[in-house]
Amino acid sequence: MVAPSALVLTCAHCGEVVPHRVLRGKIAGKDEIVFEGVVRCPRCDAVSNVVTREPKPISVPLIVSWLERSERTSLEFSPEEDVTVGEELDVADTKVEVTAIESAGRRVPADDIVRMYGRIVRERTSR
Ligand SMILES: [Zn+2]
Repeated sequence: MVAPSALVLTCAHCGEVVPHRVLRGKIAGKDEIVFEGVVRCPRCDAVSNVVTREPKPISVPLIVSWLERSERTSLEFSPEEDVTVGEELDVADTKVEVTAIESAGRRVPADDIVRMYGRIVRERTSR
């Protein structure tokens, strides 16, 4: 994986939450995305070593019905993200309403979702 060119971080020196320029760094990690590198704060010019971790997005299967057809696709979520029935999601170039969720637990954080169902409420016309 290629390291990003900028990262939004809290500066350890001036405390500002700003996009820091990545001077050098690498991305690693199996279960989470770990960035290790050197960044520069645009406010105070302080250069600092940082290690950030964020959970890897997970892919949730989604079956979308449209007229008589249904199509299998998938959506990426961060594991802590909650999804609710009735919610409208952007899927490729369409809006999809979540109509049902199959999940392993009662609450539905994305990593408990086995499969979701949706229907297209509006096809985007702008190309
Ligand atoms: Zn700073």
